[in-house]
Amino acid sequence: MSSFIIIVARDKHSGIGIQNALPWHLPEDLSHFKKTTSGHAILMGRKTFESIGRPLPNRRNIVITRNPEWKTEGVDICHSLEEAKALVKEQTAYIIGGAEIYRQALDLADTMIITEIGQTFECDAFFPAFSDDTWLETNREAHVSATNIPYAFVTYTKKNKE
Ligand code: NDP
Repeated sequence: MSSFIIIVARDKHSGIGIQNALPWHLPEDLSHFKKTTSGHAILMGRKTFESIGRPLPNRRNIVITRNPEWKTEGVDICHSLEEAKALVKEQTAYIIGGAEIYRQALDLADTMIITEIGQTFECDAFFPAFSDDTWLETNREAHVSATNIPYAFVTYTKKNKE
């Protein structure tokens, strides 16, 4: 069975993006993202792909779009979450955003790795609210960046629905 893990960085008000870019400069988080996702599949919305601007190396890049004409080099393309699941098969896939994809992926994912940034930034894209009834915090590593921004790598695990 495929396994989906959400990975995201959000600020104190769940902000994740502004004008199709990241609102902050936090190299420590980019290193964590690279280390966590390398060697795996990454699934992203077409807008996030265009904001990154190229396929990320050492990962199977899967881009989701509703546009049947959309094409680019070096990525697998799918047109629905069902199609994404079929592409991923037995692999682990990291869902790397953005906001529209996260909203749909909360049901699909069993784990979330969230960088919780202890400041507020101007944002126009937000991570969806999620319930403590569904998600349990299972790990937290607190850090302060070289530029004095507090942040924590937090893991949430979906509670057993039974
Ligand atoms: P997304 O990256 O979520 O892409 C949305 C696009 O994905 C849609 O326009 C559509 O593409 C496609 N899509 C969405 N759902 C489906 C579906 N069910 N089936 C097929 N295609 C689908 O865009 P957002 O604007 O919501 O998020 C982008 C923002 O998020 C940016 O600001 C970015 O910087 C930020 N971000 C932040 C991250 C963080 O960790 N802080 C991580 C990733 C992104 P089409 O229009 O081509 O049909």
